[in-house]
Amino acid sequence: MNKPTSIPGQFDAVVVGAGFSGLYMLYRLRQLGLSVKGFDSAGDVGGTWYWNRYPGARCDIATPDYTYSFDPELEKEWTWSEKYATQPEILDYLRFVADRYGLRPDIEFSTTVTSARWDEQEKRWTITTGRGEEIRCRYYIMATGCLSMPKSPDIEGVGRFGGQVYFTSRWPHEGVDFTGQRVAVIGTGSSGIQVIPLIARQASQLTVFQRTPNFSIPAHNGPAPADRLKQLDEDRDGYRHAARWSRIGVPNEPTDVLGVTASEAVRRERFEAAWRQGELVGIVSVFADQLLNPASNDIVAEMIREKVRSIVKDSETAEALCPKDHYFGTKRPCLDTGYFDTYNLPHVRLVDLRKQPIVSITEDGIETAEESFGFDAIVYATGFDAMTGALAAADVTGRDGLSLKEKWAAGPSTYLGLMTAGFPNFFMLTGPGSPSVLSNMAVSIEQHVDWVAGCLEDMREAGLDTIEPTELAESGWNQHVQDCGAITLMPTANSWYMGANVPGKPRVFLPYIGGVDAYRQACDDVVEQGYLGFRMTGPGGARCRDGVIRRMQPDVAMVLDLIATLGLPPMETLSADDARALLAATAANRPPGPEVDQVTDGVIPGPAGDLPYRLYRPAGPSEGPRPLVVYFHGGGWVLGNLDSDDPLCRDLCERSGAVIVSVNYRHAPEDRFPAAALDAFAAVQWADANAIELGGIPGQLAVAGWSAGANVAAVACQLARDAGGPHISGQLLICPVVDSDLARPSYQENGDGYILTTALMKWFWDHYADAADRGDPRAAPLRGDLQGLPPACIVAADFDPLRDEGVGYARALEAAGAPVRLARARGHTHTSVTMVDVVISGAPVRAEIGEALRNFFLPPNRP
Ligand code: NAP
Repeated sequence: MNKPTSIPGQFDAVVVGAGFSGLYMLYRLRQLGLSVKGFDSAGDVGGTWYWNRYPGARCDIATPDYTYSFDPELEKEWTWSEKYATQPEILDYLRFVADRYGLRPDIEFSTTVTSARWDEQEKRWTITTGRGEEIRCRYYIMATGCLSMPKSPDIEGVGRFGGQVYFTSRWPHEGVDFTGQRVAVIGTGSSGIQVIPLIARQASQLTVFQRTPNFSIPAHNGPAPADRLKQLDEDRDGYRHAARWSRIGVPNEPTDVLGVTASEAVRRERFEAAWRQGELVGIVSVFADQLLNPASNDIVAEMIREKVRSIVKDSETAEALCPKDHYFGTKRPCLDTGYFDTYNLPHVRLVDLRKQPIVSITEDGIETAEESFGFDAIVYATGFDAMTGALAAADVTGRDGLSLKEKWAAGPSTYLGLMTAGFPNFFMLTGPGSPSVLSNMAVSIEQHVDWVAGCLEDMREAGLDTIEPTELAESGWNQHVQDCGAITLMPTANSWYMGANVPGKPRVFLPYIGGVDAYRQACDDVVEQGYLGFRMTGPGGARCRDGVIRRMQPDVAMVLDLIATLGLPPMETLSADDARALLAATAANRPPGPEVDQVTDGVIPGPAGDLPYRLYRPAGPSEGPRPLVVYFHGGGWVLGNLDSDDPLCRDLCERSGAVIVSVNYRHAPEDRFPAAALDAFAAVQWADANAIELGGIPGQLAVAGWSAGANVAAVACQLARDAGGPHISGQLLICPVVDSDLARPSYQENGDGYILTTALMKWFWDHYADAADRGDPRAAPLRGDLQGLPPACIVAADFDPLRDEGVGYARALEAAGAPVRLARARGHTHTSVTMVDVVISGAPVRAEIGEALRNFFLPPNRP
């Protein structure tokens, strides 16, 4: 592969698609000295900008950003005329690029690639085109775009209409004159919203058929933003660097203003600024939490709806145009020019398909459940089979005859959105699982192309010529993509991001929402770690370092990053009092946790004096008694109190429906081992004896605790068994300390960098117990007799030094005959599961905990 081959029909690489990504890929491959052949079914370069020629088609990322940045000379030679360029201008730009770098001779236009098949013997792809050609290549690269496969309209009678039919995605090159015509437009996504105002200028009647109203803000088109141009002029490299390391591929200072806590004045000011700016980057970042917190999202959504109502004069039409069935941003927001004003024109009418669905397209128009409409032309702006459509349609067959379509039947599976296992040397540019459609495509495309080119170059240097991701790396990445989506509101919408617009398409969140910056870092880290998760072979040998590049939950990683920026002193370097003060200070600004019906404070007579407790009674239909859970807070026997675990107790109360009695026990070093354990047992005895007064059901008592609190809870169970009572229905141990051995593998793996460190754990033990006592089962319950103990739910977090002892306790209890539920907090640290309303990904684990608590109190024969 060192020199371009000259064998007819044989190339080092084939690139399908001659849009933004295909052109740049060709350019980079050529730079590497590879022989390359490009194909496009279009008659010229341009990709999406070749096909989508409908009036009003423009980019929706401002032109200073929606442009190639790989060559400063190219940037100097091209000047955009507007903030949002028209389709013809963008097409001109891509033609200019193709000519400037002499790319056209390598591309065969008006040629569709009909199939691609991997030959395992030859380690080559055989590509077949619609013209019957067969081409062999080592690397097969699909640069086919995310929104290139039009969705066939799923409407009854589509073929019956006798008038003119147009698709925004396949607009006639010669243009269309609608003057004097009765025109229907079906669809109000970005394409519909752009085309409708322009058709309204010509048509004698325009009827818009809307199924789902979309959020749209005015583009305020005009000259390119002066501030951006100035920044670019002053420091082009700095500007481009900032774009590459930004959230969506456009330089932007992230905000930390939360919608839910901001004042009305701040909310209004931030929203109006974004509205005036007319850019997606502004309107999607009015508040830091708008895509995470429904309440914050509602604030932005309602302000947009207010604007719609203020523009559209007919109140019924205005209301029908106000999106209410999805959160703002969960469907692609639109930028428009005079869209809502269009509905004030006397010849424009909106038909709300939610009220009168289309029954059928007829010979002369459209019939809805209530009316028959006659039209001269119907325009379909009904969207695309997004992100996977073009890839799966291309009949790609990998190793062992497996087709991409089959492999992706339940949803796409990729490593980094770039490759997929079983399909060696097959690359996708901006594939599913990459930021692509959630970002400035120009930036994401360049990053993908650069990564692929860098990879091929590295392989060449190492004498390797095949590459393929491992199953482990790929499933890990898929999980990470879904984890990132799951903490946002995105999965709640019936959007094309979810595949929901195409009947029968699996419902999977397709793009990567972790951010352009985070994604770039992940791709760089893969390379840095010797192409982690890729198997490479060739004359130079074989190599594979298997693994998963991102295992941590994305919001847990964000919290760790945030904490790192605070520069806090390590707890173990402080006195106990200073550590307590630090803990209280860091807890001061966290969310309070859910509302419960009642919270009351009291005291329990402990073995050495009163112990404060706080009781949480759940809201709910029944005033009657509830099961009781005695809870012990975390903090290494040294830190913590009733306040420290207050949000978690509220959460447990709400989820379990039980009365939670959180008890503060004596702390070390003032009161060392076994004070905390003895207090815990005394509290359990007292709660059992006073169940009725506490609103509990006698005999239905469980214990729970987190960290050292889970330690004393576990010990209390052993002491209760030894004392012949009280009866304990279950023990919930969240990331428990159950042993004093600090040498387990989880200590090796997670002992540094995840808040609870080995050094801190040692500090806790030193404060709590003498070395001689650390083997005592009342300190290390794993070392005790485990017969006859209550059912348990044990939470073990992946990134917790205590993970292995928690798992060990679960196994040992099970071996001793106790029913055990081991809840794995995937991608979590010792502390993150307890961060109620901060770490959203902890919610499913806490839901499992809540269920486990409820199950403790079910009669034995009920599941
Ligand atoms: P879209 O966002 O998927 O919108 C399709 C529209 O057609 C929706 O309103 C949809 O309603 C409606 N529709 C689909 N099937 C229908 C049916 N059977 N009956 C009635 N209505 C039906 O597609 P798009 O507008 O072409 O945009 C796709 C994406 O391309 C955009 O989100 C954007 O990323 C990109 N794009 C960008 C620009 C730009 O400004 N640069 C311009 C155009 C497109 P439902 O919502 O109810 O399904």
